[in-house]
Amino acid sequence: MTTTSTTRLLVIGGGPGGYVAAIRAGQLGIQTTLVEAQALGGTCLNIGCIPSKALIHAAEHFDAATRQAGGAGHLGIRVDAPRIELDKTMAWKDGIVGKLTGGVGALLKKHGVRVLAGWAQVVDGKTVEVKLQDGGVERVACEHLLLATGSVPAELTALPFGDAVISSTQALALRAVPPRLVVVGAGYIGLELGIAYRKLGAEVTIVEAQDRVLPAYDAELTRPVARSLQKLGVRVLTATRVRGLGADGQGVLATDAAGQDSEIAMDATLVAVGRRPRSDGMGLETLPLQMQGRALKVDDQCRTSMRNVWAIGDLAGEPMLAHRAMAQGEMVAEIIAGKTRRFTPAAIPAVCFTDPEVVSAGLAPDDAKRAGLDIVSAAFPLAANGRSLTLDSADGFVRVVARADNHAIVGWQAVGRGVSELSAVFVHAIEMGERLEDVGATIHAHPTLGEAVQEAALRALGRALHV
Ligand code: FAD
Ligand code: NAD
Repeated sequence: MTTTSTTRLLVIGGGPGGYVAAIRAGQLGIQTTLVEAQALGGTCLNIGCIPSKALIHAAEHFDAATRQAGGAGHLGIRVDAPRIELDKTMAWKDGIVGKLTGGVGALLKKHGVRVLAGWAQVVDGKTVEVKLQDGGVERVACEHLLLATGSVPAELTALPFGDAVISSTQALALRAVPPRLVVVGAGYIGLELGIAYRKLGAEVTIVEAQDRVLPAYDAELTRPVARSLQKLGVRVLTATRVRGLGADGQGVLATDAAGQDSEIAMDATLVAVGRRPRSDGMGLETLPLQMQGRALKVDDQCRTSMRNVWAIGDLAGEPMLAHRAMAQGEMVAEIIAGKTRRFTPAAIPAVCFTDPEVVSAGLAPDDAKRAGLDIVSAAFPLAANGRSLTLDSADGFVRVVARADNHAIVGWQAVGRGVSELSAVFVHAIEMGERLEDVGATIHAHPTLGEAVQEAALRALGRALHV
């Protein structure tokens, strides 16, 4: 049976982009309906950011215990043969996911958002048919349509998903640690999960097509990560391409830059070669929407080429990050409510939760030079930061990039243990237009990693105190 309803704003997708848009719209008094086919929280809360960070945390603890038991013992801690019970780890992770997704449901309810559980099929720019999970169909007419359908893992023709070839979704729900894991792609997912499974005891081989890991970041920033991979015993094959599965299905065929073929034995292969916007299977192709590659083309207010049809988050292309989706969602709700807003952030921070962590906000030195800026840049080594040493970690640095003429900060990068939390001060400094002198003259608590931020600014001014 088909029922009908009307709403002012219809949001398709309950991920960080869609649910934040709906909450803000509710707060602003906009009548809002949100359709979600799977689970509120989307990729990020259910099969992305949150479960991956939980697994990384558990893996770090297990690795630390294993290293102490293995005789390192330099912290004076004695542990006898730790074991991992991955089922329990996954149950703990699922508990966190449950708390957060339950919280999203409660917030939507609190702000008066109507949630429909089902698959949305777009009929036209103002009508959507929802195949409800309980079997019915609801035709919803709306004034504004917000598309926030996210992204899905990119598949390799040579290694399609199935059996031992898995995506991040399966990798975050394994019931046992695979003895031999091949990871294709040394980007965010490949490195975050590859390192986690290595720490959980798997023999890990990472195959990357480019000539270094994390090729999207600058080379200097990723060097400590490459050193750590070596120390952890992760085998890294760069400039190598995968050609498919071996004859028995238990190996991955690869070819290196010199044309040498090899077969890498494996029990599971995680393919993490990027994600593509989810724009198919819901009737979007029937609308006159302009595309940019596989993403929906949007302007700086997230308007598509159709009036009152908006697109945000991964569906609207790179950078595919949860905080960018949320910021866009909040903005669109405000524009619909009549506020004047544009999506023109001075910087969108990016963090890779590897060991060590990598952070970047704004321009790296080479980006700034390419943009024609005359810059001053300096790095402060974490080996000279007391807090880093007390965290048993010394490899890494904090780097600042500023204009040479007025010292306005245009970029920050850092690599090291625990530096992900510095992303807040980095992006704040750039958005507020801080200068090197502002950061250099601010008292930072001791002993914290924040002191390395201040010291990087002082070093760029030629007066660092601790190096
Ligand atoms: P999504 O979160 O993908 O949500 C889209 C939702 O739309 C889904 O729930 C889907 O079911 C629903 N949907 C789609 N089509 C329909 C339809 N027709 N009808 C009804 N519902 C529909 N980003 C970070 O910033 N930090 C991280 O640490 C991080 N870690 C990640 C780790 C992994 C393993 C992965 C895979 C991603 C990670 N990301 C991270 C990326 C982040 O998850 C995404 O950028 C973010 O989820 C995008 O939000 P979104 O709202 O655009 O889409
Ligand atoms: P990615 O773009 O980060 O990395 C993909 C890697 O695969 C690249 O290094 C690329 O050179 C390599 N590659 C591509 N084709 C290949 C091939 N045929 N053989 C070998 N290597 C190949 O993509 P991802 O790791 O899949 O992550 C997808 C997206 O999810 C990211 O771009 C990011 O937006 C988001 N994400 C973010 C975080 C975070 O913020 N911490 C974590 C995970 C995912």
